[in-house]
Amino acid sequence: MIKTNSYAAHSPGEALKPWPLERRDPEPNDIVIEIVYCGICHSDIHTVRGEWGEQNWPFVAGHEIIGRVIATGDKASLHKVGDMVGVGCMVDSCRTCAPCEVRMEQFCENGFNGTYSGIEKPTGRPTYGGYSGVIVVHEDFVLRLPEGLDPAGAAPLLCAGITTYSPLRRWNVGPGMKIGIVGLGGLGHVALKIAKAMGAHVTFFTTSPEKVEDAKALGAHEVVISTDPAAMEAAAYTLDFVLDTVSAPHDLDPYLETLRIDGTMCLVGMPEAPHPSPDPGSLILKRRSLAGSITGGLTETQEMLDFCAEHGIAADYEMVAMDEVNEAYEKLLAGQVKYRFVIDMATMPAL
Ligand code: NAP
Ligand code: ZN
Ligand code: ZN
Repeated sequence: MIKTNSYAAHSPGEALKPWPLERRDPEPNDIVIEIVYCGICHSDIHTVRGEWGEQNWPFVAGHEIIGRVIATGDKASLHKVGDMVGVGCMVDSCRTCAPCEVRMEQFCENGFNGTYSGIEKPTGRPTYGGYSGVIVVHEDFVLRLPEGLDPAGAAPLLCAGITTYSPLRRWNVGPGMKIGIVGLGGLGHVALKIAKAMGAHVTFFTTSPEKVEDAKALGAHEVVISTDPAAMEAAAYTLDFVLDTVSAPHDLDPYLETLRIDGTMCLVGMPEAPHPSPDPGSLILKRRSLAGSITGGLTETQEMLDFCAEHGIAADYEMVAMDEVNEAYEKLLAGQVKYRFVIDMATMPAL
């Protein structure tokens, strides 16, 4: 076993605190990674607070991982010692079902193995996430960090980046398309950068008037304060696609109304409670679709990282020390982060 330290929650909502952790010794195809940076995703908070159901406690969050390879199993060939690599929301899957065969492991029919909240195949133990010094992952689930990407700014791409890139690609977002993005947080600000690089015209929807200038600075062509009914009315029937990244339950109808005929609204935000059901008329009267999307497969995640490197896209982040994580959670919930916290893992207390 490899001994390392982590920051864990011991019961739902309890403050995270240091917790010594053992990682498995590398199997033949495993990569041993010393974690350098880990982003704080709102999903970490939903899970730590028990909003997404029961967990194995103690629980270690973190699935926006950038690190350095420090050892490899005998048969691993995809990454070598010294490489900078990434790990996102998944660390394994069945490899044999139809979605896995086409590298859409996020839809694994036997359930993908989450970086946290999963059961580690080789050991049968819970998986523990990236708020830790070291992680051991099968090489197929380890991403290559492209040259030129700032490693700290790249960490959030491993969840926020792929979760927004995948639906933007799936609905062919590109030149000539008018799209909307809802919610200027970790996912929303990365989505905006990616959609701009894909060539789309972007209208940004925010509930926070103080974020209007930021959204413009990040490249939004238009910004709408979604709590202003007249502004929402003016945006009605203008968009081909809307990506909703909001972390709290809210009324979907005003956003559906911004779609043209055959437009699609895709949800990626996953609140602790359901949204109010949309009015059937919001869909029926313009043949609109309401969809959802979860992270992305490994091939697509590598494609996203390469795309971001090519277009100079990384998250805007504020670096925090490991012992500031509880305070960072409170700030994130209060919307006081531009736009992702990234933990500097060099600050993890020694064992
Ligand atoms: P975040 O940084 O907290 O951003 C969420 C944004 O939602 C906020 O910045 C805010 O934007 C808006 N918002 C928050 N509360 C709201 C409310 N009561 N009413 C309206 N708008 C509100 O969170 P994140 O890390 O980007 O994650 C967003 C959501 O996506 C979370 O639910 C997370 O669990 C989920 N997620 C899903 C996947 C997936 O695979 N589908 C992957 C990662 C994360 P404004 O201030 O601009 O309104
Ligand atoms: Zn996430
Ligand atoms: Zn599978």
